Amino acid sequence: MASGTVVDITQHVLAGNDAAAAENRATLDAAGVIALNLMASPGAGKTSLILATAARLRADGCRAGVIEGDLATRIDADRVAAAGYSVAQINTGGGCHLDATMVRGGMAALDLTSIDVLFVENVGNLVCPANFALGSHANVVVASVPEGHDKPFKYPGIYAAADVVVLNKCDLAALLEFDAVTFAAGVRLVNPHAPLFTLSSRTGEGVAAWAEWILGRARHDFP
Ligand code: MG
Ligand code: ZN
Repeated sequence: MASGTVVDITQHVLAGNDAAAAENRATLDAAGVIALNLMASPGAGKTSLILATAARLRADGCRAGVIEGDLATRIDADRVAAAGYSVAQINTGGGCHLDATMVRGGMAALDLTSIDVLFVENVGNLVCPANFALGSHANVVVASVPEGHDKPFKYPGIYAAADVVVLNKCDLAALLEFDAVTFAAGVRLVNPHAPLFTLSSRTGEGVAAWAEWILGRARHDFP
């Protein structure tokens, strides 16, 4: 049956990816590096969030590295490098998500002994990144106020896959009539337990609490 064949191929691809993700995780654990997979729509402010968070972590003596995933260009990697962080750029050449093998290549280009936290900025996309494990310790969904409070209802899969949700650009909430209660209800519909941080990378509001969550997670995994 044709539809059965399609499912089988998909399962095969995902199984291969899971094996590569497990290898990545073992490499990260051996190096004592906690990795966060940042998933979001284009324009949610992933790179700005990474920079604001990494600066806060640096003040606490925690060293950040970054893998940037984009269809094309080094624009984000250049921003991160200019701020003084180790960074590897992955261009997917049109691919709409990162997979574990791509991330392995990015990890190989970084000195894992010189970092404590690895931010993996996935390709901007609220659909398929949720289906590809990378070997990270936590999936972070980055939402942003301009996207509107209905997105958890419309893209339940990625919110269900989140270990933690960050709502960025909270400084625009009043201007854009963003309903934080409805947003949170949408998250809870598919994900009852993931911590939810509301912040603004631009103003810095809420970034300290988010960075503290990362530090707590790192202390838990690598005491
Ligand atoms: Mg970016
Ligand atoms: Zn994809």
